[in-house]
Amino acid sequence: MPTHSRHSPPPHGADLSIRGVGHRYGRGREPALLDIDLEVAPGDVVALVGRSGSGKSTLLHILAGLIRPSAGAVFVGGERVSGPSPSRVVMFQEPSLLPWMSVAQNVGLGLAFAGRGAEARARVADLLSLVALENLADRNVQDLSGGQQQRVALARSLAVEPALLMLDEPFSALDAFTRAALQRDVRAIARRLGTTLVLVTHDIAEAALMADRAIVLASGPGRIAADLALDLPEARALGDPAVAAAIARIRRSFEAVAAGERAAPLPAPVPRPLAGLARAH
Ligand code: ADP
Ligand code: MG
Repeated sequence: MPTHSRHSPPPHGADLSIRGVGHRYGRGREPALLDIDLEVAPGDVVALVGRSGSGKSTLLHILAGLIRPSAGAVFVGGERVSGPSPSRVVMFQEPSLLPWMSVAQNVGLGLAFAGRGAEARARVADLLSLVALENLADRNVQDLSGGQQQRVALARSLAVEPALLMLDEPFSALDAFTRAALQRDVRAIARRLGTTLVLVTHDIAEAALMADRAIVLASGPGRIAADLALDLPEARALGDPAVAAAIARIRRSFEAVAAGERAAPLPAPVPRPLAGLARAH
């Protein structure tokens, strides 16, 4: 069962329920996702870990309401997802800021798009201090480093107080130091605000540094192979023995999935009953 970590804030994020979700990008294609069931408690941080092509981005797009699944349904805060909403925000690797605007203006855009532009003046300063950019409010975003630009995108995403924040490999283009700082800060901010966070990553260490649970996906079709409760303290660093143990645990699960995929060639020359068993996993 999903549990809150020991120092849970009062949750403001919503619970997430994924029920029997499958997806196929067109007739006759191999499904990208099959039978995904997942319950996430409000304010929890969940990492979806899987190889490239295991359907991570597809699942995130479905949660965001950007893709309608071929099967099943998603509920956020008890409400069925049927299209995009400002209460469900996705952050991608590319921060997609408006280059002719200042830092503060870009942060205020999230509120403007949500029809809450009037709140921007009062809230942008707080948001900038949340992401440690208070001194750069008037700078043009083009003058910022990649890590600072991601912080602006994060502040813009948080401005609308999303019930669900989703990150699709958002730090993979950043250098190691910037990435480590953002991993730590994004988790801390989400915990402080109680935001439910779904992080997609192929980086096992990132999952251990940021998440309460690691959901390991198998590919072809994408499906959940393991759901690991990490139970780590809030303060985490790569060298900590507990973090190293969590990384080793996720890696073992990941390798078991990869071994299973290698052991299951597609045109299996196996008698029918056995083929049925082999496919049951
Ligand atoms: P991941 O994010 O884990 O790398 P994706 O969700 O991007 O995986 O892709 C899962 C599968 O769906 C892959 O086989 C990919 O080729 C396919 N796929 C993804 N997007 C599309 C699309 N727009 N049209 C057709 N196939 C797609
Ligand atoms: Mg992807």
